[in-house]
Amino acid sequence: MLKFYKRTIKGEFFVTGLTSVLIISMIFIALTLVSVYMLRLENARQTLKTANLHIATYTDGVLESLVMSAKTNAAFPGAMDYDSDNYPAQSGLLQLFAATTRANPNIKYSFAGYEDGSLLIEGYVPTADFDARLRPWYKSAVERYPDISVGLPYQDAKTEEWLVSVSLAMFDGEGHLVGVMAVDCTLEYVKSLMLQATYFDSQTNYVLDKNRKVFVHKNREFLHQSADLIVPGLSQQFSSDSGFIHYNLEGAKRLAYYQVLDSSDWIIVSAIDLSEVTAPIIVMLIYSVMALVFLSLVLAIGQVKLYEKRFVKPINLLKDHIEELTLGKDIRQISTQYSYSNSELAEIANRIVEMATKSLKKKTDDLKLILDATSDAILVLSVGAQVIHMNEKYADIQSDLSRVLEDEGSKTERLFSQKEMLDMVYLEDGQVLEQYTCPVLENGELIGQLWRYRDVTDRVRAEENLKELAITDELTGLWNRRYFLERGVAEVGVIDRTGLPLSLLFIDLDYFKRVNDTYGHMVGDDVLRCVAKMLRSSVRSTDLVARLGGEEFCVLLPNTSFDAAIQLAEKLRAYFDAHACAASDEQIRCTISVGVATHTWDNGSFGDLLDKADQACYKAKDNGRNCVASI
Ligand code: GH3
Ligand code: MG
Ligand code: MG
Repeated sequence: MLKFYKRTIKGEFFVTGLTSVLIISMIFIALTLVSVYMLRLENARQTLKTANLHIATYTDGVLESLVMSAKTNAAFPGAMDYDSDNYPAQSGLLQLFAATTRANPNIKYSFAGYEDGSLLIEGYVPTADFDARLRPWYKSAVERYPDISVGLPYQDAKTEEWLVSVSLAMFDGEGHLVGVMAVDCTLEYVKSLMLQATYFDSQTNYVLDKNRKVFVHKNREFLHQSADLIVPGLSQQFSSDSGFIHYNLEGAKRLAYYQVLDSSDWIIVSAIDLSEVTAPIIVMLIYSVMALVFLSLVLAIGQVKLYEKRFVKPINLLKDHIEELTLGKDIRQISTQYSYSNSELAEIANRIVEMATKSLKKKTDDLKLILDATSDAILVLSVGAQVIHMNEKYADIQSDLSRVLEDEGSKTERLFSQKEMLDMVYLEDGQVLEQYTCPVLENGELIGQLWRYRDVTDRVRAEENLKELAITDELTGLWNRRYFLERGVAEVGVIDRTGLPLSLLFIDLDYFKRVNDTYGHMVGDDVLRCVAKMLRSSVRSTDLVARLGGEEFCVLLPNTSFDAAIQLAEKLRAYFDAHACAASDEQIRCTISVGVATHTWDNGSFGDLLDKADQACYKAKDNGRNCVASI
């Protein structure tokens, strides 16, 4: 049953409290009930014994009085020399009998029988075949002589009424049996005596005769039956003059007290159902258990309430406390917020909080050291935008960073994301930061967000330089051949869509070998740089000037017709013809030969255009140099 009960602390207290109270109370109730049972049983035994003694005494008294009367009557002069034909003698005896029944209300009949078979009794004339000598009371008296037959139950010959007889045999001086003097009371009367002392509802009083036959019993079925027939083996239990016996009757356990009468062989038995002793105890048990269960519940609930206040609440408080600690709440703030009652548990709780705080602080300090030791700026916010971690580096760049981020309109909340992201942040002072952000998960649940900023300024610069180097000519700073070809192809692609003309000037310095030979290679380089500058300053910003290699230059002129290109080429040629380059201490004039070619819609590739301009340049050389040519 308890399997279904959630094993909370409250539940544990409830179950253990209830169980202990129940066990203790059960033992107490069991002991009490056993004592009560013993007491009641003893009490019942004494009461039963007393009742039996009363009945025996009444009965004994009645029988004694009957014996007295019988003896008195037998001693009456003339009782012996009775003559059935002598009326005066009869009448005297009959008067005696009448007086006897009057004097002793216990006596129903007073009479005598004689050896001639006659019966002397008042108010009754026996039938002709009546023979007193055959009657049970007569036979019994003769049998028992010189003792008196006391308490013989027999059935009246005429009325068939059951009677109890006391009879004594009379012998004359010569020892001859003369007759029997008898007094009777009714069996009903004896029965009424049995009712005199009935103290229990289930009490039955009954009488067994010397043959252990029942002759007084309220239950007619049992009358004149052997006791052993009713309860097998019962007769053997009457082993002494008196005592307690136990037997089963029709499934019920009976407790009985018996006593053998002094005056006769009668056994007076008083019996009760044992259940009459135990039934109230069962009722008591039921009430006790009900009261016990109720009391146990009340006690258990009381205990739970008490323990809840003393244990569960402080423990839960402790749990909350530690939880808040781990969430980074200020310990002083918490300390004033919580307090424990003054108990051992409170001491333990305070110790735990202290230890947790220390260990947490140590961890936090270690983490801070580690975070501060890294070159990255790190910020961790909770989902509620509370700062969980922020290292010194972050604190340093925080204001610069927030200015830029606000300019970009990216509010912190918006930066919370479910996935990792990498971005670049360019600070106002030229610093470039790599921004890495990722969600902080705990058991799959988002609890915050981490940002890491790494200074990548040098790397970015280096990358930019590399990129620059890859596309520029080292000597002159103009675009290099590779980039020029790339752009040329792209421009041809544009032309093919727009239909605008694209022209190209192929420029070769005249007799440059001589410059090198005359002034040296270094000066030659200076001249090349000077030429580059002059070219650059002579064309539009949209025009592309490149050094293809050696002393060969190209100018790509988008949206420029052939004529315009020729004009520009001529202008350049004239300019170089007229201006010298300042290289070292020398003024060196260097003329140029220019090949012009123009690409119009769908007339070949950029390579074709370049070849054409190159060939035109050769043509200019052939034409004597310092001139412009085209093919
Ligand atoms: P022309 O073109 O008029 O026929 O005569 P040229 O002397 O210019 O002959 P060419 O174009 O064949 O020679 C190219 C010369 O340019 C060869 C070399 O000495 C010089 N030159 C090539 N590259 C460089 C360079 O990077 N620096 C310097 N100083 N000279 C270079
Ligand atoms: Mg050349
Ligand atoms: Mg040349």
